[in-house]
Amino acid sequence: MVIAIDGPAGSGKSTIAKMIAEKLGIVFMNTGSFYRGVTLALLRSLGGAADGSGSAAPDLQDEEAITAFSATVPLDYINGSLYIGDEDVERYLRSDAVEAIVAPLSAIVEVRHIVNDKIREIAANLSLVCEGRDMTTVVFPTADYKFFLDASVQARAKRRFDQGTSSMSLAEIEETIAARDQIDRNKKEGSLKIAPDAVYLDTSDLTIKQVCDMILSKIQ
Ligand code: C5P
Repeated sequence: MVIAIDGPAGSGKSTIAKMIAEKLGIVFMNTGSFYRGVTLALLRSLGGAADGSGSAAPDLQDEEAITAFSATVPLDYINGSLYIGDEDVERYLRSDAVEAIVAPLSAIVEVRHIVNDKIREIAANLSLVCEGRDMTTVVFPTADYKFFLDASVQARAKRRFDQGTSSMSLAEIEETIAARDQIDRNKKEGSLKIAPDAVYLDTSDLTIKQVCDMILSKIQ
Protein backbone atom coordinates (compact mmCIF):
# COMPACT_ATOMS: atom_id res chain seq x y z
CA MET A 1 0.00 0.00 0.00
CA VAL A 2 1.25 3.49 -0.85
CA ILE A 3 -0.15 6.56 0.88
CA ALA A 4 1.21 9.62 -0.92
CA ILE A 5 1.20 13.10 0.62
CA ASP A 6 2.33 16.30 -1.10
CA GLY A 7 2.41 19.91 -0.01
CA PRO A 8 4.64 22.96 0.36
CA ALA A 9 7.50 23.37 2.86
CA GLY A 10 6.26 23.52 6.45
CA SER A 11 2.73 22.30 5.77
CA GLY A 12 3.17 19.61 8.42
CA LYS A 13 3.58 16.75 5.95
CA SER A 14 6.52 15.12 7.72
CA THR A 15 5.06 15.11 11.20
CA ILE A 16 1.70 13.92 9.93
CA ALA A 17 3.06 11.28 7.55
CA LYS A 18 5.20 9.92 10.38
CA MET A 19 2.23 9.68 12.73
CA ILE A 20 0.05 8.00 10.12
CA ALA A 21 2.83 5.48 9.39
CA GLU A 22 3.20 4.70 13.10
CA LYS A 23 -0.53 4.34 13.54
CA LEU A 24 -0.79 1.93 10.59
CA GLY A 25 2.49 0.13 11.36
CA ILE A 26 4.00 0.90 7.96
CA VAL A 27 7.14 2.69 6.75
CA PHE A 28 7.46 6.49 6.75
CA MET A 29 9.47 8.10 3.96
CA ASN A 30 10.41 11.78 3.81
CA THR A 31 11.48 12.22 0.20
CA GLY A 32 12.81 15.77 0.68
CA SER A 33 15.60 14.05 2.65
CA PHE A 34 16.88 12.48 -0.56
CA TYR A 35 17.35 15.90 -2.18
CA ARG A 36 18.83 17.21 1.05
CA GLY A 37 21.24 14.24 1.14
CA VAL A 38 22.48 14.93 -2.40
CA THR A 39 22.86 18.62 -1.48
CA LEU A 40 24.81 17.81 1.68
CA ALA A 41 27.13 15.45 -0.19
CA LEU A 42 27.73 18.13 -2.82
CA LEU A 43 28.57 20.80 -0.22
CA ARG A 44 30.91 18.41 1.58
CA SER A 45 32.65 17.64 -1.71
CA LEU A 46 33.28 21.37 -2.06
CA GLY A 47 35.05 21.62 1.27
CA GLY A 48 32.00 22.07 3.51
CA ALA A 49 31.88 20.92 7.13
CA ALA A 50 29.77 17.93 8.24
CA ASP A 51 26.61 20.07 7.92
CA GLY A 52 27.76 21.52 4.60
CA SER A 53 28.59 24.97 5.97
CA GLY A 54 31.66 26.86 4.71
CA SER A 55 31.82 25.14 1.33
CA ALA A 56 32.73 26.81 -1.94
CA ALA A 57 29.59 27.90 -3.83
CA PRO A 58 28.35 25.09 -6.10
CA ASP A 59 27.74 25.98 -9.76
CA LEU A 60 24.09 24.95 -10.12
CA GLN A 61 24.08 26.16 -13.73
CA ASP A 62 26.37 23.28 -14.63
CA GLU A 63 23.54 20.73 -14.60
CA GLU A 64 25.65 18.05 -16.26
CA ALA A 65 28.28 18.13 -13.52
CA ILE A 66 25.65 18.23 -10.74
CA THR A 67 23.81 15.30 -12.31
CA ALA A 68 27.00 13.27 -12.70
CA PHE A 69 27.86 13.97 -9.07
CA SER A 70 24.33 13.08 -7.88
CA ALA A 71 24.55 9.68 -9.53
CA THR A 72 27.60 8.84 -7.37
CA VAL A 73 26.01 9.64 -3.98
CA PRO A 74 25.27 6.35 -2.18
CA LEU A 75 21.89 7.30 -0.68
CA ASP A 76 19.93 4.89 1.46
CA TYR A 77 16.91 5.21 3.73
CA ILE A 78 16.86 2.99 6.80
CA ASN A 79 14.29 3.14 9.61
CA GLY A 80 13.20 6.63 8.68
CA SER A 81 16.74 8.02 8.41
CA LEU A 82 18.69 9.12 5.35
CA TYR A 83 22.15 7.60 4.96
CA ILE A 84 25.08 8.56 2.77
CA GLY A 85 26.94 5.27 2.61
CA ASP A 86 27.16 4.01 6.21
CA GLU A 87 26.61 7.42 7.78
CA ASP A 88 23.24 8.47 9.16
CA VAL A 89 23.18 12.15 8.09
CA GLU A 90 19.70 13.07 9.36
CA ARG A 91 21.03 15.62 11.85
CA TYR A 92 22.77 17.63 9.12
CA LEU A 93 19.98 17.74 6.57
CA ARG A 94 18.23 20.87 7.82
CA SER A 95 21.28 23.10 8.21
CA ASP A 96 21.10 26.61 6.72
CA ALA A 97 23.76 25.60 4.15
CA VAL A 98 21.62 22.73 2.84
CA GLU A 99 18.44 24.79 3.11
CA ALA A 100 19.94 27.52 0.90
CA ILE A 101 20.43 25.38 -2.20
CA VAL A 102 18.27 22.27 -1.92
CA ALA A 103 15.35 23.75 -3.85
CA PRO A 104 17.32 24.93 -6.92
CA LEU A 105 19.31 21.68 -6.91
CA SER A 106 16.10 19.65 -6.85
CA ALA A 107 14.84 21.60 -9.88
CA ILE A 108 17.44 19.89 -12.09
CA VAL A 109 15.39 17.36 -14.06
CA GLU A 110 18.07 14.68 -14.27
CA VAL A 111 18.71 14.91 -10.53
CA ARG A 112 14.99 14.29 -10.04
CA HIS A 113 15.16 11.17 -12.19
CA ILE A 114 18.06 9.80 -10.13
CA VAL A 115 16.24 10.52 -6.86
CA ASN A 116 12.91 9.13 -8.13
CA ASP A 117 14.56 5.87 -9.21
CA LYS A 118 16.16 5.56 -5.79
CA ILE A 119 12.85 6.24 -4.00
CA ARG A 120 10.97 3.68 -6.10
CA GLU A 121 13.74 1.12 -5.62
CA ILE A 122 13.67 1.50 -1.83
CA ALA A 123 9.85 1.60 -1.76
CA ALA A 124 9.40 -1.54 -3.85
CA ASN A 125 7.62 -4.24 -1.85
CA LEU A 126 7.06 -1.92 1.12
CA SER A 127 3.84 -0.50 2.49
CA LEU A 128 4.59 3.13 3.12
CA VAL A 129 3.50 6.68 3.74
CA CYS A 130 5.68 8.96 1.65
CA GLU A 131 5.65 12.73 1.56
CA GLY A 132 7.19 15.29 -0.78
CA ARG A 133 6.20 17.53 -3.67
CA ASP A 134 5.48 15.09 -6.49
CA MET A 135 4.55 11.86 -4.76
CA THR A 136 0.92 11.99 -5.87
CA THR A 137 1.65 13.27 -9.39
CA VAL A 138 4.93 11.78 -10.63
CA VAL A 139 6.54 9.24 -8.35
CA PHE A 140 3.47 7.23 -7.29
CA PRO A 141 0.65 8.36 -9.62
CA THR A 142 -1.27 5.17 -8.83
CA ALA A 143 -0.91 5.48 -5.03
CA ASP A 144 -3.76 3.93 -3.06
CA TYR A 145 -4.43 7.18 -1.19
CA LYS A 146 -3.43 10.73 -2.09
CA PHE A 147 -3.46 13.87 0.04
CA PHE A 148 -2.37 17.48 -0.48
CA LEU A 149 -1.58 19.37 2.72
CA ASP A 150 -1.50 23.15 2.47
CA ALA A 151 -1.06 26.07 4.90
CA SER A 152 -0.45 29.81 4.71
CA VAL A 153 3.15 31.08 4.38
CA GLN A 154 2.84 32.70 7.84
CA ALA A 155 1.70 29.49 9.54
CA ARG A 156 4.43 27.47 7.85
CA ALA A 157 7.20 29.96 8.73
CA LYS A 158 6.12 29.95 12.36
CA ARG A 159 6.28 26.13 12.45
CA ARG A 160 9.82 26.11 10.97
CA PHE A 161 10.91 28.85 13.40
CA ASP A 162 9.54 26.87 16.35
CA GLN A 163 11.53 23.78 15.25
CA GLY A 164 14.64 25.75 16.29
CA THR A 165 16.92 24.28 13.59
CA SER A 166 17.55 27.63 11.91
CA SER A 167 19.44 30.70 13.05
CA MET A 168 17.25 32.89 10.82
CA SER A 169 14.61 35.29 12.14
CA LEU A 170 10.91 34.57 11.62
CA ALA A 171 10.77 37.22 8.86
CA GLU A 172 13.78 35.69 7.10
CA ILE A 173 12.25 32.21 7.28
CA GLU A 174 9.03 33.61 5.82
CA GLU A 175 11.00 35.06 2.91
CA THR A 176 12.88 31.79 2.35
CA ILE A 177 9.63 29.81 2.35
CA ALA A 178 7.98 32.18 -0.14
CA ALA A 179 11.05 31.92 -2.41
CA ARG A 180 11.02 28.12 -2.01
CA ASP A 181 7.33 28.02 -3.00
CA GLN A 182 8.15 29.91 -6.18
CA ILE A 183 10.83 27.38 -7.12
CA ASP A 184 8.74 24.36 -6.13
CA ARG A 185 5.70 25.51 -8.11
CA ASN A 186 7.67 26.36 -11.25
CA LYS A 187 9.89 23.33 -11.71
CA LYS A 188 10.08 21.96 -15.24
CA GLU A 189 9.27 18.53 -13.88
CA GLY A 190 7.85 17.41 -10.55
CA SER A 191 6.48 20.84 -9.71
CA LEU A 192 4.23 21.18 -6.70
CA LYS A 193 0.63 20.87 -7.83
CA ILE A 194 -2.58 19.34 -6.60
CA ALA A 195 -3.37 15.99 -8.21
CA PRO A 196 -7.02 15.97 -9.36
CA ASP A 197 -7.70 12.85 -7.30
CA ALA A 198 -5.94 14.06 -4.11
CA VAL A 199 -7.82 15.05 -0.96
CA TYR A 200 -6.96 18.74 -0.25
CA LEU A 201 -6.57 19.86 3.37
CA ASP A 202 -5.62 23.38 4.55
CA THR A 203 -3.87 22.80 7.88
CA SER A 204 -3.25 26.46 8.84
CA ASP A 205 -5.78 26.39 11.66
CA LEU A 206 -5.83 22.68 12.39
CA THR A 207 -3.87 20.77 15.01
CA ILE A 208 -1.69 17.85 13.99
CA LYS A 209 -4.13 15.49 15.63
CA GLN A 210 -7.07 16.92 13.70
CA VAL A 211 -5.25 16.49 10.40
CA CYS A 212 -4.20 12.92 11.29
CA ASP A 213 -7.76 12.02 12.25
CA MET A 214 -9.07 13.43 8.95
CA ILE A 215 -6.54 11.42 6.94
CA LEU A 216 -7.12 8.22 8.91
CA SER A 217 -10.86 8.52 8.52
CA LYS A 218 -10.42 8.78 4.72
CA ILE A 219 -8.19 5.69 4.73
CA GLN A 220 -10.29 3.60 7.03
O1 C5P B 1 10.30 18.55 2.21
P1 C5P B 1 11.61 19.27 2.36
O2 C5P B 1 11.48 20.72 2.69
O3 C5P B 1 12.54 18.57 3.27
O4 C5P B 1 12.28 19.17 0.91
C1 C5P B 1 13.48 19.82 0.61
C2 C5P B 1 13.45 20.35 -0.82
O5 C5P B 1 13.47 19.25 -1.73
C3 C5P B 1 12.19 21.14 -1.14
O6 C5P B 1 12.42 22.50 -1.13
C4 C5P B 1 11.84 20.75 -2.52
O7 C5P B 1 12.33 21.74 -3.38
C5 C5P B 1 12.59 19.48 -2.79
N1 C5P B 1 11.70 18.32 -2.95
C6 C5P B 1 11.28 17.99 -4.21
N2 C5P B 1 10.52 16.88 -4.41
C7 C5P B 1 10.16 16.09 -3.38
C8 C5P B 1 10.57 16.42 -2.07
C9 C5P B 1 11.33 17.56 -1.90
O8 C5P B 1 11.59 18.71 -5.17
N3 C5P B 1 9.45 14.99 -3.61
